[in-house]
Amino acid sequence: MRKLALVGRPNVGKSTLFNRLVGRRSAIVADDPGTTRDRREGAGRLADLEFTVVDTAGWEEAKGAALEARMRRQTEQAVKDADAVLFLIDARAGVTPLDKSFAQWLRAHARKTVTVANKCEGRDGVAGVAEAFGLGLGEPVPLSAEHGLGLADLRDALAPLI
Ligand code: GDP
Ligand code: MG
Repeated sequence: MRKLALVGRPNVGKSTLFNRLVGRRSAIVADDPGTTRDRREGAGRLADLEFTVVDTAGWEEAKGAALEARMRRQTEQAVKDADAVLFLIDARAGVTPLDKSFAQWLRAHARKTVTVANKCEGRDGVAGVAEAFGLGLGEPVPLSAEHGLGLADLRDALAPLI
């Protein structure tokens, strides 16, 4: 089964998207040694695509904080283990410096990445989608994980990668 990792800074909507992809199927909570945050893994589905999806705790600047460093390592491991990565940003908040440094890391390490501009319901996310294009990881897919909008386009972006 192909593996898909959901990554991005905290609060961009990774867990909301995870829940939407996994639906009522149950998720396994894996205890990563050395982390206090659990990594969730489940059977994901998007239209005709089926995959294993991994939620991550959120990538932070390490800056010496032990927990943040462990969370960062967890995310980096999830990216390395994945066949494809969904990199989420919050289109309402716009691209932040943390998004930029994460994008830089992904450009160097991830094999296949789809940038997802989440929280795009309504018009508040339009500028954020344009900014996300500037991250250099391809054309961003506008999505609203909470409202279930943009899933067909996400399927089309993902299909060639997994
Ligand atoms: P995570 O930290 O990346 O896992 O983010 P969460 O999935 O926990 O979501 C963080 C917050 O953003 C929560 O309050 C969600 O309800 C909210 N959220 C998630 N997706 C959307 C969306 O598509 N639109 C809006 N407006 N809010 C969202
Ligand atoms: Mg989460």
